[in-house]
Amino acid sequence: MELAHRATILTPSLTLSIDSKAKAMKAEGIDVCSFGAGEPDHDTPDHIKAAAMASLDGGFTKYTPSSGIPELRQAIADKFKNDNGIDYKPSQIIVSNGAKHSCYNAILATCQADDEVIIPAPFWLSYPEMVRLAGAEPVIVHTKQENDWKMTPEEFESAMTPRTKMVILNTPGNPTGSVYTKEELEALVEIAATEDILILSDEIYEKLTYDGAKHVSIASLSKTAYDLTITVNGFSKAYAMTGWRLGYLGAPEAIAKAIDAIQSHSTSNPCSFAQQGGLAALRGDQSAVEEMRAEFDLRRQYIVQRLRDIPKVTVVEPKGAFYVLANISALGLTSSNFSERLLSKHHVAVVPGVAFGDDRTVRLSYATGLDTIKKGLDRIEEFCKSL
Ligand SMILES: *Cc1c(COP(=O)(O)O)cnc(C)c1O
Repeated sequence: MELAHRATILTPSLTLSIDSKAKAMKAEGIDVCSFGAGEPDHDTPDHIKAAAMASLDGGFTKYTPSSGIPELRQAIADKFKNDNGIDYKPSQIIVSNGAKHSCYNAILATCQADDEVIIPAPFWLSYPEMVRLAGAEPVIVHTKQENDWKMTPEEFESAMTPRTKMVILNTPGNPTGSVYTKEELEALVEIAATEDILILSDEIYEKLTYDGAKHVSIASLSKTAYDLTITVNGFSKAYAMTGWRLGYLGAPEAIAKAIDAIQSHSTSNPCSFAQQGGLAALRGDQSAVEEMRAEFDLRRQYIVQRLRDIPKVTVVEPKGAFYVLANISALGLTSSNFSERLLSKHHVAVVPGVAFGDDRTVRLSYATGLDTIKKGLDRIEEFCKSL
């Protein structure tokens, strides 16, 4: 039996392998401090759960339109207008099984063999694999720490070729925590527009920004930006709904239509009662979002200070999401070596940056309680000083 080529080119997820090793150690009774989490440690707010349960009790258990129920698409259109300053009609919105699914749908609908897709590194590790699954080629741009891990217009331009079809931008970013300013995004759009390069804008962390950093949606910048951009968002991070599998995108009409066709023949509609939960999330009380953000912010400040106190470790203060990227290259280990030794000897799980395209760094998630963060940082400090 021969597997399809596309299945053989995928890299197994490194984040998942560290995570499973940490879980196995925990199961053996070892006290592991994990900074590996890629999801909020909070539970979904009660009013969202109640709406989904009520819809289940009411028999809302059948297929829905593949692109999502009309009420939810309208609520998302309203959200894009009010929160992001983007005018999408409900027909331009496709609800999916998560923001990850929306990214994949968007890439499948627009990219193919011979196309290149520019991805700034450190990147969210699924982007290059999705591009490969579509038969296209990821082109990695290595950003600089002194630029807060953000791609500059010059770096973007020099990665462009006549084959460039798309650029993927993720702000606030995972794993960097970087937030692009309006001016920085405008400069990138200006370059994309010279060759009609599509922009896949992953805005899943938009609600989690700190220190007055402001999230800016690329499609809101200008008519040119709007026409080139596919805006991806979802419920997982803002409303702690990772397990619900619910996300969405907004796009120019022709792209939305193509994505709907792909989705209708692959996954059909997103879960019916999860959509009712999503509707309650968007229409209901937003205070839980701010409570969660404020808690993340306290942890962020603590973790950054502690890491900065460790000799030879440097960090850019993250302005969004719930990750901090620590540059450990001055300690003389690769990111995998560092992470493996830290886990096996000191029982702390972090994610090696090599998974994100940057071997000088490790990612620490602060989507975990302050007690764990404190204990874990004591151990990290001890480990780094021993090197
Ligand atoms: C978590 C995450 C997503 C995935 O969100 P889902 O809606 O759960 O699929 C997308 N992009 C980035 C950068 C993420 O970190």
